[in-house]
Amino acid sequence: MAFTPENKGSRSKALKYTLVVAAVFLLLAASFFLLKKEKESVTYTRTLMGTAVQLTLMDGQAARFDEAAEAAFSEISRLEQIFSSYRNDSDVARINAAAGKALVDIRPETVEVMKKALFVAALTDGAFNPAVGALGKVWGPSGERGEVPPEAEIKKLLPYVDFRGITLEEHDKKAGLKKEGMAINLGGVAKGYIVEKATVALKKAGVTRAIIHAGGDMAVFQKDTETPFTIGIQHPREKRLLAEAFVYNGAIATSGDYERFFIKDGVRYHHILDPRTGFPARGAQGVTLIAKDPTVADALSTAVFVMGPEKGMALIEGLEGVEGVIVGEDGSVRVSSGFEGKIY
Ligand code: ADP
Ligand code: MG
Repeated sequence: MAFTPENKGSRSKALKYTLVVAAVFLLLAASFFLLKKEKESVTYTRTLMGTAVQLTLMDGQAARFDEAAEAAFSEISRLEQIFSSYRNDSDVARINAAAGKALVDIRPETVEVMKKALFVAALTDGAFNPAVGALGKVWGPSGERGEVPPEAEIKKLLPYVDFRGITLEEHDKKAGLKKEGMAINLGGVAKGYIVEKATVALKKAGVTRAIIHAGGDMAVFQKDTETPFTIGIQHPREKRLLAEAFVYNGAIATSGDYERFFIKDGVRYHHILDPRTGFPARGAQGVTLIAKDPTVADALSTAVFVMGPEKGMALIEGLEGVEGVIVGEDGSVRVSSGFEGKIY
């Protein structure tokens, strides 16, 4: 049959129709794909270390997300038992029980976390001081006693708050305390280390993009180098965001006086102690640090909180790859020069 103009016309109509159908199909396919991508982000929450631990898994082998989260959670609870100040079989408790008497065998994980803790203690001239455990007697391990101890009692304990009296034998995997009455507390660094190890567990299970959040300690990782994660930073006194940080890969650690505290005679008592006075540190309301290593970020945020805005910011500015926001006691906000994000 010869082509008549009419035939040609109907053919091109058919072609147009096919194109429209194809376009609609493509649109549907694209939205399905996007929806599927959205769906691949799964958040798992569990209460561990006395806080809600949240894992948001976004990319990788989605079929294995449940398994990956389970692996990370069981790693977290394993480590929690090793560093706990509340169990008498933890490495921390065993070190403390042998204070002034002997070195004790510790696990490789304890060696690793103590090494980083002592590094930050030396770097901050003891503003971060894992020997604050000695003050746990009067304040409770995380300041939960809820009473203000007599000053004389605190003064008596200060000589024991000496991180230089902590012995760590890395190769033999042993640790000890020089004097009876000394005690370590890893509460200011252990959560960061646990977040670091949860990250390792997730990566090992095939996850390629995730957010790990445990109380004030976070880590994010991804392969994308163009789009950062936006991390909200809570205002220490108001129910709103203080800032947002843009982070590609790394850790975000916050230390504040607003999560665990009590007020007595108009004075706020919280769980971050100034090792020089034995009382809660004054000078800051909140500190958020961004750094590569979650463990170091955790210890450093506690240290900067103790140091206060001026000395704390000078320390941050002097450290490669560390940025941060400090809210002073008076509510003033300081931001480090390389901070990427938004301040409200
Ligand atoms: P959070 O535990 O709320 O995340 P931090 O990381 O700042 O907050 O750690 C506070 C904990 O660290 C306290 O509960 C206590 O166990 C311990 N700690 C308190 N003061 C110090 C200090 N100056 N140096 C080291 N650890 C400290
Ligand atoms: Mg800390």
